[in-house]
Amino acid sequence: MKDKTKLINAGRVKRYTGAAVNPRLVRASTIVFDTVEQMNEAAKQCNNSVEYYGRRGTATTFALTQAIAELENAEGCYVYSCGTAAITSSLLAFLSHGDHVLMVDSVYEPTREFADGTLTRLGIEVSYYDPLIGARIESLIRANTKVIFLESPGSWTMEVQDVPAIAKVAKQHDVVTIIDNTYATPINFRPLDVGVDVSIHSATKYLCGHSDVMLGVASANAASWPTLQKYSYQLGHCAAVDDCYSALRGLRTLSLRMSQHNDSAVYLASWLQKQNLVHSVRHPGFDDCPGSEYFHRDFSGGNGLFSVLLKSGNQQALDAMLNSFEHFKMGFSWGGFESLALGSMTMSNRRTVTDWQDTEPILRLHIGLEDVEDLKADLAQALAVYANYL
Ligand SMILES: *Cc1c(COP(=O)(O)O)cnc(C)c1O
Repeated sequence: MKDKTKLINAGRVKRYTGAAVNPRLVRASTIVFDTVEQMNEAAKQCNNSVEYYGRRGTATTFALTQAIAELENAEGCYVYSCGTAAITSSLLAFLSHGDHVLMVDSVYEPTREFADGTLTRLGIEVSYYDPLIGARIESLIRANTKVIFLESPGSWTMEVQDVPAIAKVAKQHDVVTIIDNTYATPINFRPLDVGVDVSIHSATKYLCGHSDVMLGVASANAASWPTLQKYSYQLGHCAAVDDCYSALRGLRTLSLRMSQHNDSAVYLASWLQKQNLVHSVRHPGFDDCPGSEYFHRDFSGGNGLFSVLLKSGNQQALDAMLNSFEHFKMGFSWGGFESLALGSMTMSNRRTVTDWQDTEPILRLHIGLEDVEDLKADLAQALAVYANYL
């Protein structure tokens, strides 16, 4: 079955939907049983498909986890109250005191904070590696290395990783690989198909897609699923069923939205590349982006996110530009229907082992679903404002 068809059908099982098109919204803490036999029977499948106690999920939760597992070709999927919880729980599931974890240097900031904070506090060694390292990661694996954490493309700077090469080396050394796959969504890259053990999404982004939900999911292959499930359950994770419902609704239009975000982003990134004040554009699909060959090999599409390095700027020019936007609002997150912009004078404070030599201010754009010509006009006027401060 092709992806577009899968997105329409995934998780729409009669047991969850009844006669309706969409799964039932089942809000519950307590599930009641009439007989001991029924209760014992429910206990057998309480983690994935049968209602037992609210924290373990209801029909709405199961419809979502089953849908994501199907899309990721996974053995199982766990749902969390946000993407960050999915990341921290996946790491805690596979790491113990005295273990070592290799983290990609271009990792999402809160993941770095958790690694340097909580993991270090628990006596877990953390070291960082170059996102472009590929199979050479073998030289960094120690006797106590238990997890390699990946994220591709990298937050803000878009370096694309050679995920299959890293997964292969990891497997040879019995190291678990966990990837933050949020950029790709479950349709543009399938990490488990190339040997990764756990794939995570901040469903807050494109899965829900409307900037009104916080949610996270982690899916695992057969070897890693029991561990991921056991410790995520022990940590007490459970997501609100209303939010699971929103993710299921988002899933049905994901392919359509992603195509439009991607088309508009490629169009605007290409236009920006030709503007005088633009030093360069970081878009994983463009040939000058580090690792773009892996993007073309492994991904079946992009999204609305890319970064722009601006020439010869200063903080004042960058701030004035951000203040001038009409359609690009400043805000964290991305993946909703609206356009967003964030600016930073440097990336060097977010790197440990790789140099960020560019001194240009960086603008991170999320291209929403507005008309692309309106967005182009907004970018053009903002560049004119920027020029006034140089
Ligand atoms: C937003 C984001 C997260 C965190 O997700 P939340 O749902 O906000 O906790 C993790 N990884 C990436 C790449 C993100 O963009």
